Amino acid sequence: MIVGATRWDVLTGDITRCATEAIVNAANGSLLGGGGVDGAIHRAAGPELLAECRTLGGCPTGEARITQGYRLPAAYVIHTVGPVWRGGRQHERRLLASCYRASLILAREHGLRSIAFPAISTGVYAFPKEEAAGIAAAIVHAELLANPTDFDHILFICFDEPSSNLYSAALEKLPD
Ligand code: ADP
Repeated sequence: MIVGATRWDVLTGDITRCATEAIVNAANGSLLGGGGVDGAIHRAAGPELLAECRTLGGCPTGEARITQGYRLPAAYVIHTVGPVWRGGRQHERRLLASCYRASLILAREHGLRSIAFPAISTGVYAFPKEEAAGIAAAIVHAELLANPTDFDHILFICFDEPSSNLYSAALEKLPD
């Protein structure tokens, strides 16, 4: 879809292969690597990424930090720490929204106009996928409406087609 000057697409694939200016990592609070998309990004970026992450001193849930992309096609990695789903009464929804917002704010501060997001918190952090997709779509939409000329391209990259379908459906449900 198009929002202001921004093209916004949902794709199935591997985020480490995205040639957007930044890719977002669903990191853990240590920023020292993990499994899932985090492990894939560190493997593809090379050990220099971990070395830079070590200088950052971690990141609280719902916030974001930026590093270079090293051997990735993306010039930058925006590391954000999604909430672990604990039943929904521990501010998980607000914190997930905050991950997307904080990532876009960091991208804007660095003049990065194309950003790829994974499905934050929907792997080992177990956030219900359909609700996560709705939150991701709503918050990115709000940010694009508020900042209509700041981004050229936003991508939601899901690892499997059922997930992509959920994110596509969430975009389709957004108000005009
Ligand atoms: P979290 O800890 O935030 O739940 P995970 O890495 O476990 O993070 O999962 C987040 C999402 O990223 C999951 O939907 C998972 O399928 C997906 N994922 C895993 N590897 C990749 C990859 N290389 N590219 C894109 N998405 C990925």
